[in-house]
Amino acid sequence: MSPSYQAAPVIDEKLEAIHAEVVRLNPGEPEFHEATRDVLESLGLVIAKHPEFARNKIIQRVCEPERQIIFRVPWQDDQGEVHINRGYRVEFNSALGPYKGGLRFHRSVNLSIVKFLGFEQIFKNALTGLPIGGGKGGSNFDPKGRSDTEIMRFCQSFMTELYRHVGEYTDVPAGDTGVGRREIGYLFGQYKRITNRYESGVLTGKGTDWGGALVREEATGYGTVFFLTEMLQAIGDSVDDRDCVVSGSGNVALHAIDKLQQLGGRVIACSDSDGVVHDPKGIDIALLRHVKEVERLRVSDYAQLRPDARYLPGGNIWSIPCHLALPCATQNELSGRDAAVLIANGCIAVAEGANKPTTFEGVQLFLEGGVAFGPGKAANAGGVATSALEMQQNASRDSWSFEYTEARLAGIMADIHQTCLETAEEFGAPGNYVVGANIAGFQRVARAMTALGLI
Ligand code: GLU
Repeated sequence: MSPSYQAAPVIDEKLEAIHAEVVRLNPGEPEFHEATRDVLESLGLVIAKHPEFARNKIIQRVCEPERQIIFRVPWQDDQGEVHINRGYRVEFNSALGPYKGGLRFHRSVNLSIVKFLGFEQIFKNALTGLPIGGGKGGSNFDPKGRSDTEIMRFCQSFMTELYRHVGEYTDVPAGDTGVGRREIGYLFGQYKRITNRYESGVLTGKGTDWGGALVREEATGYGTVFFLTEMLQAIGDSVDDRDCVVSGSGNVALHAIDKLQQLGGRVIACSDSDGVVHDPKGIDIALLRHVKEVERLRVSDYAQLRPDARYLPGGNIWSIPCHLALPCATQNELSGRDAAVLIANGCIAVAEGANKPTTFEGVQLFLEGGVAFGPGKAANAGGVATSALEMQQNASRDSWSFEYTEARLAGIMADIHQTCLETAEEFGAPGNYVVGANIAGFQRVARAMTALGLI
């Protein structure tokens, strides 16, 4: 069966005016403008169907964060030199539950990026069907090359301000780029020390010895592959025996590669910000994990240890022919030109493990080209969904087995896929997961915001 894909409907006049106002109110924030535009483009028919959403100005309200916190993060390096970074937490929407979303530590972080990620997070979290609102935070701190003690001092300073804004019923941060189990440990330690409370539910992505959920670490990558599997099943295909290309080599990429291989896929390439490794015999995941997570080295070091692998410094991963493409690195890493190359090379499906890695032009080309395209807010929702499962376990002082938690994750991803598919069909864009995800996520938030009154 081959579904008929349709491009996103053109933004309607009223929504165009709302978006122009978002741009006017938030100057110099291109990533945030793009993220709001992407969602608003899907909402014309929803507003036509639900005039109460327009009356209550739900769209205007959803584009305005409930609260934005910007703070100074001073810290000392191992040589005693003082550094000052900027910390952010944007508490975007709490209609469905406590603000929930990761912290990103990367030199590129600014308010626009945090707001774009926070805005995406609202709808992603809504799609999971779990009781979590949307938020995001981070810092322009660059963890690259920093020692363990420097990372700890930075995390302690960051939490010394953040602690007053977070809490298990208020705002529950987790990891994102540059923030993993180690950083969550230092952040949690400082929160516990300042508040004198062992409040496990204040952060997710914790170590499994001290309140963390099994599968949380694997969840974003695994979930992206579960979503991909669902999309493939809908067109009578599967991962088995397919050539796969996964960009990135961080937490999401590593676990996506692992799950693709478990399902019989051949993962022939991955990357980092310096270059691409092409390994036609298939990535050795144990070796890659050792190089990246234990040695904290680069994919070029992995390539040196694999006689058949080729390292392409500064190379473009999307020029490597594949059936399945999983952008798992960062925003805007897959352009219109890359999409055209992938389509010409026979790519049949794309699942976004990162947040908005495909540019607007790239998405349009995939939709028009009949490629099954899973947008990040649906395809990578497994990470935050498993964070919500971690919160459940913390609230009940329980811990679930790996098998049970993975089965819950797989069920949640199948439900998200079904919801997107049915919603896209209902709103006249069959097979268009972008429209399906935007509308389904928005409707759940809008209904809750309407029910809670003008707050
Ligand atoms: N940073 C992840 C995301 O983009 C996870 C957030 C969380 O677990 O709260 O969804």
